Amino acid sequence: MKVPFLDLKAQYESIRPEVNQALQQVLDKTAFAGGPFVSRFEEEFAAYCGCAHAVGVSSGTSALWLALLALGIGPGDEVITAANTFIATAEAISFCGAKPVFVDVVEETFNMDPAGLQEAITEKTKAVIPVHLYGQMADMDPIRRIARKHHLRLIEDASQSHGAEYQGRRAGSFGDAGCFSFYPGKNLGAYGEAGAVVTDHAEVADVIRCLRDHGQRQKYYHACVGWNARMDGFQGAILSVKLKHLDDWNQARRRNAHRYHAVLPDHDQMHLPREAAYGKSVFHIYAVRVPDRDRLIQELAERDIHCAIHYPVPLHLQDAYESLGYEKGSFPVAERCADQIVSLPMYPELSAEQIEYVGREIHAALERQTESQQT
Ligand SMILES: *Cc1c(COP(=O)(O)O)cnc(C)c1O
Repeated sequence: MKVPFLDLKAQYESIRPEVNQALQQVLDKTAFAGGPFVSRFEEEFAAYCGCAHAVGVSSGTSALWLALLALGIGPGDEVITAANTFIATAEAISFCGAKPVFVDVVEETFNMDPAGLQEAITEKTKAVIPVHLYGQMADMDPIRRIARKHHLRLIEDASQSHGAEYQGRRAGSFGDAGCFSFYPGKNLGAYGEAGAVVTDHAEVADVIRCLRDHGQRQKYYHACVGWNARMDGFQGAILSVKLKHLDDWNQARRRNAHRYHAVLPDHDQMHLPREAAYGKSVFHIYAVRVPDRDRLIQELAERDIHCAIHYPVPLHLQDAYESLGYEKGSFPVAERCADQIVSLPMYPELSAEQIEYVGREIHAALERQTESQQT
């Protein structure tokens, strides 16, 4: 049996006629850059997230960058985020001219520790970006309380959490802006690059619309210096098709997570992900923790089970951020997680048989490890 880490082909096969028809409509209308298919998706996605506005952009990275710019973040400002996110969160801060400030995470959820956030605030702090990692939301009540008290802008990086909930409300709807990536492997994935910002503030949406299109509201009249960060028409059309299936796919991911939970060991040798009582995870990634991570990945790969690591090096220890002056030991939880995490195969179409096979092989691999330790 083969268990790939991800299977985009299986999903395409399940929606092939709808997708092909949507692509044909874009071709017939030659609506390639921005245009009606993007606008339609924006309306649908805003409604899905429970927000007044959505602005489609060229990637999740541009969504974060333009949201920060639109909220007035710039040189001299500090923006706090979690140490164990994908680098795009921090790059967006850097590309505004601001300084990323990292904080540690909570062991149970891998998400921003509100106590760490409180401690990291200085005179220069202007915004905070909680990242809803692996499909599970950060603890938004305390984070929002702290943000409000210190007059910080709150921007959610919801790139891994389309449809995730916190106390019944969806990711993206908690802050001044919610940023999403539609990179192909995400829970809602385009067939190319795309992203979006959702917000309840009309002015913020308007500034991002202007910035994503060279600062123009009217063609060739440039109100400000912007950029080209438009969403392309094919992606808008495909995302409209796929959005209709998102809840079913997220439900299938949750079912798969429960199946993993039933077949995997959960003791000293392996810790399974937990769903916090405050919300509903959409299991973008199913990350377990084991002491000898590299050996497990290797042994599973030999049996055609393909895993990944999200992420092997936390941002404060990346060469790119060496100049910020963090040292090893700054964020012990994020560092420990980075050394022990393994992302198991996770996608909606994963079958019960595949999960049972992964479970059997993991039990066998851990037994072999125990035996070799004893001899
Ligand atoms: C994928 C991702 C991004 C970046 O999205 P792109 O569309 O690849 O630019 C940002 N933040 C997080 C947490 C992500 O997982």
